Amino acid sequence: MTAAVDTAVLDRDGLGSLVDALVGDGRTVVGPTVRDGAVVLAELASADELPYGWGVELDAGRYRLVPRDDGAVFAHSAGPQSWKSYLHPARERLWSADRTPEGDVSFERHTPDTPAYAFLGVRPCDLRAIAIQDRVLTSGRYSDDGYGARRRGALLIAAECTEPGATCFCVSTGGGPAADPGYDLALTEVIDDDGHRFFVRVGSEEGARLLDQVPHRDADTVTEAVARASVDSARDRMGRALPPVDLRTLLGGSLEADRWDDVAQRCLTCGNCTLVCPTCFCTTTEEVTDLTGDHTERWQRWDSCFDLDFSFLHEGPVRPSARSRYRQWLTHKLSTWHDQFDSSGCVGCGRCIAWCPVGIDITEEVAALHAESETEA
Ligand code: SF4
Ligand code: SF4
Repeated sequence: MTAAVDTAVLDRDGLGSLVDALVGDGRTVVGPTVRDGAVVLAELASADELPYGWGVELDAGRYRLVPRDDGAVFAHSAGPQSWKSYLHPARERLWSADRTPEGDVSFERHTPDTPAYAFLGVRPCDLRAIAIQDRVLTSGRYSDDGYGARRRGALLIAAECTEPGATCFCVSTGGGPAADPGYDLALTEVIDDDGHRFFVRVGSEEGARLLDQVPHRDADTVTEAVARASVDSARDRMGRALPPVDLRTLLGGSLEADRWDDVAQRCLTCGNCTLVCPTCFCTTTEEVTDLTGDHTERWQRWDSCFDLDFSFLHEGPVRPSARSRYRQWLTHKLSTWHDQFDSSGCVGCGRCIAWCPVGIDITEEVAALHAESETEA
């Protein structure tokens, strides 16, 4: 990295200038905004759309916006969407085919949409999730061209966490509220008697070039110290935790656990947990045709291991019960993901806990499996 500065301070107006500079550069800026009673990700035309003065209250199956009187903009944890909605969209056309009047068929491969994204407010857990999806979708034998193109063009501006949610547990998945390398800029929000500002770390030449375009000042020791202390404090205030055991071994040894029957009594197999999960990547393809039968399209869309069709082979699903489907999801996330991708599939964002309609809590389920394994030992 040849950045002119490694750290800086932006004030609140500077954040507005940052968004303006990104828009001026022709980037599609995506960041958090309040919509429909939640902090969602959406395209932003200006920083005025950011969720200033909003926090969230979270629990299993519960998400509520709460007003804050400090005007903080990044004092909310992960919302219902993750960045995969943009990098790995829920539906994408792959190709289309048309029958000509002469009876021939012509095929057209669809060129993926590849806006020059700038993602503003990427949480450290989501940075790790993007790194996992990079491995899954671009580093193997078969890569997703659309994902790869969008990812290569995306600029990442991280927002370190100073207000972890009650469903967050990134620390016990090996991460934390501080941003790992991979960002272009990392912001840490500071609000104290000296004002509302952001401690900025530069992570790439593109980040340095962007910072050069907006009013900023040299980082001072007080702002840096407050920023670091806020992130350290967030590390100690995680809402939840996974049991501090070898989860890969625990899950691998729990295939016949009674707990799967217990969770199957509650699980609706709706698939919400896989849709909101920033690392879940499974897709299927489907063909749609017009009424004449002369035009057809193949679409890729998100799939879920909770769907009965997901494991349909030779006249029936391999995993017909809720027990087997929940077990598949959790065991893949925390155990066999290591075999495939050399890491856990969970970054501890807590989305699957907050957005499960019946409040099933992955940390509670793992703790119960651990307790059952201890009883049997
Ligand atoms: S765990 Fe919750 S979100 Fe996931 S499939 Fe079951 S009911 Fe749906
Ligand atoms: S499994 Fe749940 S907590 Fe873990 S990354 Fe996916 S949504 Fe987040």
